[in-house]
Amino acid sequence: MRTKIVAGNWKMHKNAEETEDLINQLIELVPSESTTRIIVAPTFTNLASAVDHLEFINIDVAAQNMHQAEGGAYTGEISASMLQSIGVNTVILGHSERRAMFHETDSIIADKVSTAMKHEMEVIFCFGEELKDRQDHNYKNIVEHQLRDGLFHLEASDFARIILAYEPVWAIGTGETASPEQVQEMHAFIREVIRQKYGRDVAENLAILYGGSVKPDNAEELFGKEDVDGGLIGGAALDAKSFAAIVAAAK
Ligand code: PEP
Repeated sequence: MRTKIVAGNWKMHKNAEETEDLINQLIELVPSESTTRIIVAPTFTNLASAVDHLEFINIDVAAQNMHQAEGGAYTGEISASMLQSIGVNTVILGHSERRAMFHETDSIIADKVSTAMKHEMEVIFCFGEELKDRQDHNYKNIVEHQLRDGLFHLEASDFARIILAYEPVWAIGTGETASPEQVQEMHAFIREVIRQKYGRDVAENLAILYGGSVKPDNAEELFGKEDVDGGLIGGAALDAKSFAAIVAAAK
């Protein structure tokens, strides 16, 4: 049985005080006995305080990005060892906003994944097709390419530290959710692509999250699908009550 995971991507929202407030509300609202794994990803400037506040709480902290180099003249960037030095061992890589707005290619993302693996970090690997790919019925090809180019240089054993997040770009921040049937179709396809390359055990143990306008009122149906192991949540993760309700839906 795969553990359900609900991860909140707070993007470039919440200053230090607001982050602390949201964390305190989550500590109140999320039951300490929840069997769902919970992850939150605040901005870089608030990671250290989030780690401190959540040290004894069943909520893990992830970064939203990192650079692929070990260090050096990369103004404004953050390395894997910098994250690890403040107790952050999980990182979101390949988010569609980074791909589209910051020109991160599959090859850059593959390098970031390699760096994370070298540091024994866990990666939430995001990928997903654009609206045009879906309309052209080309979405499976696109997703297969993103998986192949971003991850297929890894060893099977690396997948113990990989979480996939299928996020169709047309459903992110738009209020447009993929239907539970569309999501299940893609997740089953993704698991099959992984099975063909890495075998049944890797595919069956791999968590595949869905992301794209997940809300308290659609979470339960989405998470109820066989191959959906939880969600990566953007907008609804900024409100503690909504996020806690989504966690509760991931039974
Ligand atoms: C995201 O950005 O990863 C995301 C899923 O956003 P939203 O839930 O707002 O669509």
